[in-house]
Amino acid sequence: MRIDVITIFPEYFGPLSVSLIGKAAARGDITFGVHDLRHWTHDAHRTVDDTPFGGGPGMVMKPEPWGEALDAVVAAGGGAGADALLVIPTPAGVPFTQQHAARYAAQPWLIFACGRYEGIDGRVADEARSVLAVEEVSIGDYVLAGGEPAVLVMTEAICRLLPGVLGNAESATDDSFGFGGIESGGPMAGLVEGPSYTRPRVWRDREVPPVLLSGDHAAIARWRRDGALRRTARNRPDLVARLAAQAPGALDRRDREVLSEAGFPVNAEDVAH
Ligand code: SAM
Repeated sequence: MRIDVITIFPEYFGPLSVSLIGKAAARGDITFGVHDLRHWTHDAHRTVDDTPFGGGPGMVMKPEPWGEALDAVVAAGGGAGADALLVIPTPAGVPFTQQHAARYAAQPWLIFACGRYEGIDGRVADEARSVLAVEEVSIGDYVLAGGEPAVLVMTEAICRLLPGVLGNAESATDDSFGFGGIESGGPMAGLVEGPSYTRPRVWRDREVPPVLLSGDHAAIARWRRDGALRRTARNRPDLVARLAAQAPGALDRRDREVLSEAGFPVNAEDVAH
């Protein structure tokens, strides 16, 4: 996979050479290109922003450097016909989820455009759409100072799903949300994961749940699913509501009991037996 990032702070992306993703890049499984937007400015101050038309506070990123940067990055990677997806992080975008991470992980080439100030002149995305697929995504309902941390977050979520990046290929399907979210059909599809434990068996008088030491794999899987359902009900009632509405067949009788105890009765006729 190829990932290009355009930013005014290339140094922000040092973490891409660290840990699992750094190793995947060193193996050649991911190729990163981090580009300084100011390279495509032409004035002595290397200006990338200007005051907003219509007034208002703050500055807006100018379209010219962005246009030139995208033209150059796209041309270097194979031109307009190449299979690139431009991802523009913005608090005004659609929420980035595990489904996006799985879909983006299947793309051959992603380009991220990191905004700063009040964001990028709106014509840049419109212009890019004439040659590329473009998606505006938000990593959460809060406002960051720039797109760089959002790109680091998304890159990590995407790259850990690439084949060979995680040590244990099953961990992604066992993680919160499952590999690809609610439709993925894995044990955690549409849920967040329950608690996990390691040695010692007793710590500060707190014992690990005995079922985890039983060697009974079916009982352990059931216990884990119960824990996931309880934690999802407690922390993410929105996910329980979605699961019950969109994939009721994924809930069996025991799931329904656990959810009901947690205050989420699910209709019996919607549930797999
Ligand atoms: N004026 C914009 C608005 O209200 O929607 C906020 C701009 S923000 C201060 C500057 C940049 O940070 C954005 O262009 C974007 O790249 C990034 N950013 C801020 N919050 C973000 C979020 N929740 N998700 C993704 N990117 C975000």
